[in-house]
Amino acid sequence: MRSIVNIDFLIIGQGLAGSLLAWELIRRGCSVLVLDHGTENASQVAAGLINPITGMRLVKSTEVDELLPVAKQCYAQLAQCFGQVFYHERMMLRLLSQPADERQALKRLSDPAYQPYLGKLYHEQPHTFLEQKQTGYLLTRNLLSCMRDYFSARNSYHKADFNCAELLFKPILRWQHIAPARIIFCDGHYASQSPWFSWLPFQLAKGEILTMEHLSPIPQTLLNYGNWLIPTGQQQFRIGATFDTQTINTHPSQAAKHTLINALTQVKPEFAQARCLSHQANIRPCTRDKQPFLGFHPRFQQLAIFNGFGAKGSLQIPWYSQQFANALRHNTPIPADIQRYYATHFPS
Ligand SMILES: Cc1cc2nc3c(=O)[nH]c(=O)nc-3n(C[C@H](O)[C@H](O)[C@H](O)COP(=O)(O)OP(=O)(O)OC[C@H]3O[C@@H](n4cnc5c(N)ncnc54)[C@H](O)[C@@H]3O)c2cc1C
Repeated sequence: MRSIVNIDFLIIGQGLAGSLLAWELIRRGCSVLVLDHGTENASQVAAGLINPITGMRLVKSTEVDELLPVAKQCYAQLAQCFGQVFYHERMMLRLLSQPADERQALKRLSDPAYQPYLGKLYHEQPHTFLEQKQTGYLLTRNLLSCMRDYFSARNSYHKADFNCAELLFKPILRWQHIAPARIIFCDGHYASQSPWFSWLPFQLAKGEILTMEHLSPIPQTLLNYGNWLIPTGQQQFRIGATFDTQTINTHPSQAAKHTLINALTQVKPEFAQARCLSHQANIRPCTRDKQPFLGFHPRFQQLAIFNGFGAKGSLQIPWYSQQFANALRHNTPIPADIQRYYATHFPS
């Protein structure tokens, strides 16, 4: 029989959430093991876009001034550690398709709180665009691959399916031969099936993305026209993403492909000739109140969750993982604590 290995934290899931939380805990001197299925996850499919000003009304989220510097610093630190750039800051051109959009843009341009994130109006017949600053995208697939190698090299990664039925609570918390002080579920959309956390109000959203190749070189700015276009090479780009809260699966659909190509060619008819290289789908772990889910199970305090980053994982996860790592180490307050749902959602 294998001898028991005592560790501080067993982390379930090596998406962006599990990876960055494990990274922060290791930096704080904790012993960590990350378990993952090893199959394609939402983080790998994601475009990794960071866009501080969103929606029809061009709204800046209240948290962005605090979260964005932390995200940039975190990705710069990881770039230095792994010797490659993961976060690419690029200007974004946002299409203003209606006169009302242009009026809203002018209003935002006169607001000092929006100045760090907006440029000027830009006309390219027949369209008007608004320049957005401090936008960019994270190469999540490259980052997760480097982090997996890093965890593996220090015996902190194991490719396995965490089967909940194998978890023992007594005499000590134990999964197979691993005895962690705590288990942290960073399991993305799988949490909605969890025996411990499915009571939380998730609102999953399927997203689909296309990788395309144009016949000739394309402009290297990000484009936002309701959907977005991210140039990923001289002629290659990604477009996306659909947002479907009704059909929750990871199968690419012809309907979504058609919708994405149609939306693109309405703004950029020249891309009608572009060739589709790949089509991916996955599930965003969105939540009904649009806040992440962090904290401890109300009955089993050894079980914790770090999840619910919805469509904003690249922006939010660095800041929340630092805060949660501090809370786990030093009992500091937990932001977006799931305690807000104990009374209303946890079955007594
Ligand atoms: C099409 C699409 C486009 C997106 N675009 C963007 C974007 O532009 N910008 C942005 O910020 N966000 C975007 N997102 C959202 C982003 O993907 C999420 O916010 C983020 O990836 C969530 O990370 P996660 O680690 O919580 O989940 P995941 O990346 O899904 O990771 C969860 C991991 O847990 C593992 N796991 C679960 N259960 C078990 C188990 N029992 N045993 C072992 N392993 C297990 C899974 O295998 C998986 O690897 C997009 C998502 C999609 C689907």
